Amino acid sequence: MTHLPADDRYENMQYRRSGRSGLKLPAISLGLWQNFGHTRPLETQRAIIRRAFDLGVTHFDLANNYGPPGGSAEQNFGTVLAEDLKAHRDEMVVSSKAGYHMWPGPYGDHGSRKYLVSSLDQSLQRMGLDYVDVFYHHRPDPETPLEETMGALDAIVRSGKALYAGVSNYNAEQVRAAAAILKDLGTPLLIDQPSYSMFNRWTERDGLLDALEEVGAGCIVFSPLAQGLLTDRYLKGIPEDSRVRTSVFLNEDALEAEKMDRVRALNDIAAARGQSLAQTALAWALRDTRMTSVIIGASSVAQLEDNIGALANLDFTDEELAAIDVHAVG
Ligand code: NDP
Repeated sequence: MTHLPADDRYENMQYRRSGRSGLKLPAISLGLWQNFGHTRPLETQRAIIRRAFDLGVTHFDLANNYGPPGGSAEQNFGTVLAEDLKAHRDEMVVSSKAGYHMWPGPYGDHGSRKYLVSSLDQSLQRMGLDYVDVFYHHRPDPETPLEETMGALDAIVRSGKALYAGVSNYNAEQVRAAAAILKDLGTPLLIDQPSYSMFNRWTERDGLLDALEEVGAGCIVFSPLAQGLLTDRYLKGIPEDSRVRTSVFLNEDALEAEKMDRVRALNDIAAARGQSLAQTALAWALRDTRMTSVIIGASSVAQLEDNIGALANLDFTDEELAAIDVHAVG
């Protein structure tokens, strides 16, 4: 079922350089955390991945534990890649990660060299790839010396199993320390992957973008739609096929009345801009040009298309930004 991608796929996407590296990423990337496990039809996954590639989304973000069950998203992505997009591997940036629990015992979690190296080997096997473009340490590990974890990333890059090294959920201080070690080893830090959205602004308080700029690394954020809260998904109740109903990672408490009032106010601001709330939330997260990319999740092609539509208007007036602050921060 080889896919013949759209000829115009590079015409409307914006590509942003990751820090001072040579690598550019699409402003909107696709993440396979929640909607690409064995619990979802492969044909829906295939349709989303194909459409993303046709719209210029060259970057697909995975991790060892994505599913459910853990590992199944990499497996399904590998199937779609082999069957549909094999000829286009060199047009894609595929990432994976290790750092959360993956298998029992002391070597299937956290930040040891033992875990990272064997986990990447497993990921490559599941995806049917010889290498990933970016390999991340998924979260800081206070128990493993940072020198060991960064040493593992450096060794992985030297082995050819990853082209670039990344960290995820690292704050400004941790980024500075990681980047210094990697620089000494001769493998620059490509990027950090933190959470960020109108409702989740810890990176602003932390000065993370300044730290990343200082060390020459990029920033790619996850859950820019707050897992679907910053969309119209829950404006008329809780759909049975929504993340609140189908995943353990978002529960009904997130939809309390005060929060939904904020969502409605933000939805009105988006409408006045001629955008869906999802589009305004993504444009907002991209408003600092140092932001390399936002990683969205999508459970349908329609959601993906809506999200990519954000690129039609990335500009904000000061009044719009102030109004967003009133409702998002409170
Ligand atoms: P989002 O905040 O983009 O949430 C995605 C969800 O929002 C979708 O599954 C869908 O929910 C809903 N949605 C998306 N677009 C629309 C739309 N246009 N209209 C209505 N609803 C919409 O991101 P995720 O939380 O999914 O995270 C994105 C990616 O970030 C992950 O796949 C992963 O790659 C990465 N990530 C990294 C982490 C890390 O620790 N490094 C942690 C978490 C994520 P529904 O399913 O209800 O349809």
